[in-house]
Amino acid sequence: MADPKQKTRDKTRLRDAAGTKPRPRPRRPRSRYSPAEVEEIFRRFSVQRPEPEGELEHVNAFTLLIAVVLSAQATDAGVNKATRALFAAAETPQKMLALGEEAVGEHIRTIGLWRNKAKNVIALSEALIRDHGGVVPGDRDELVKLPGVGRKTANVVLNMAFGQPTMAVDTHIFRIGNRLGLAPGKTPEEVEAGLVRIIPEQYMRHAHHWLILHGRYVCKARRPECERCIIADICKAAVKTNTIPAPLVELSPLPETAAEPAQ
Ligand code: SF4
Repeated sequence: MADPKQKTRDKTRLRDAAGTKPRPRPRRPRSRYSPAEVEEIFRRFSVQRPEPEGELEHVNAFTLLIAVVLSAQATDAGVNKATRALFAAAETPQKMLALGEEAVGEHIRTIGLWRNKAKNVIALSEALIRDHGGVVPGDRDELVKLPGVGRKTANVVLNMAFGQPTMAVDTHIFRIGNRLGLAPGKTPEEVEAGLVRIIPEQYMRHAHHWLILHGRYVCKARRPECERCIIADICKAAVKTNTIPAPLVELSPLPETAAEPAQ
């Protein structure tokens, strides 16, 4: 009987002789947490905030998309202040286009990079009308073709407006993924892939908001408030200062002013 291992050995010899030995595949950074620990972390987040909501004000998928585009390098509170009047005047791509770049700019003047953002808001409205009949598409490939829309923005819109289990990695989630060793990665895409890989399916719908809120209010960039942390006993971050978890109770929504802005 032919030796089945011989076939493999022959193949390897041929490959080596041809100088085409495959390079070892780059190792994916691994989570420092067992599946049971990940499950427990998200179970606690789900008890603390059963129905987490994003903090960007919007009235439909279009205004959500605009708010997310405007929120780059700005706080949600700052964006909300500017968009209340803007969305009262224009909550559809058609009305936004009619308003025009100059008037949009007037509304969002308090937000960083407002000139460029006003241009994008108009270009985005035009593209939605031209390519999608004025409707925000629920498809990542289509969303990222729109002016000013990157993968993170698309993930936020897919999650919040279309209920898709996406993971939009912002500065808070990137920090948590790496600081805790939950999903280490050098880029937001690596952290996103790591989180999507380990988070149990039933928690994916809200995981993005739980992690953002945890990063904004507790596991802050400069000084994490470990004494207020409900996962302090599970956390493996080198910077943690406490191992006793805070009481696990359902929280009421926090005021925007308590948040640490994204950097
Ligand atoms: S224990 Fe501290 S470092 Fe760990 S997740 Fe909680 S706040 Fe962050």
